[in-house]
Amino acid sequence: MKYRIIPVTPFQQNCTLLWCENTKKAAVVDPGGDLGRILKAVEEEGVTLEKIMLTHAHIDHAGGTAELAESVGLPIEGPHQGDQFWIDGMAQQCAMFNFPPCEGFTPDRWLNDGDKVQVGDSSFDVVHCPGHTPGHVVFYNKDDQMALVGDVLFHGSIGRTDFPQGDHQELISSIKNKLFPLGEAVEFIPGHGPSSTFGVEMQSNPFVR
Ligand SMILES: [Zn+2]
Ligand SMILES: [Zn+2]
Repeated sequence: MKYRIIPVTPFQQNCTLLWCENTKKAAVVDPGGDLGRILKAVEEEGVTLEKIMLTHAHIDHAGGTAELAESVGLPIEGPHQGDQFWIDGMAQQCAMFNFPPCEGFTPDRWLNDGDKVQVGDSSFDVVHCPGHTPGHVVFYNKDDQMALVGDVLFHGSIGRTDFPQGDHQELISSIKNKLFPLGEAVEFIPGHGPSSTFGVEMQSNPFVR
């Protein structure tokens, strides 16, 4: 599997274009906005978009979902149904954070812990990691030992829990009991900032070590 990170929105969210090298089939993870830049990357890499994958429904991750799904004709997989209220409030999120107007959407597939998401020949395990939002999921590629963790974990930090239905203890539990057991060697792409490994965070992240 190959990938390219495309920082989008004023929040510099790490939207990720990932694709299977054998089939050139691709997915966009967390298209928060700046669709022109995402589609330009798709064209430059010569891949074929198959689906949209969402870690959670905050505006900087999901704001461009409705428009991208409609304009290209893509199914939406994720997040977990716990984030329905964030999708319902998409218009208010736009206003609150001064984003261009955007619409809500209905995922074609809500995801649950243990589900699998396929992109060409690459397979991702779904890990439900509530805390930052109740419906937050992480996508884990076992073959490549990498994960897309959204706003659950960052290099040196963890996700905010001061939003409605955020839960600090639940977030810590998600990281320690569901992500770290996947292994120290797993490299992860967070929703914001530089990539890291679970091993590095186990040792040096002051919030979870
Ligand atoms: Zn978030
Ligand atoms: Zn974010």
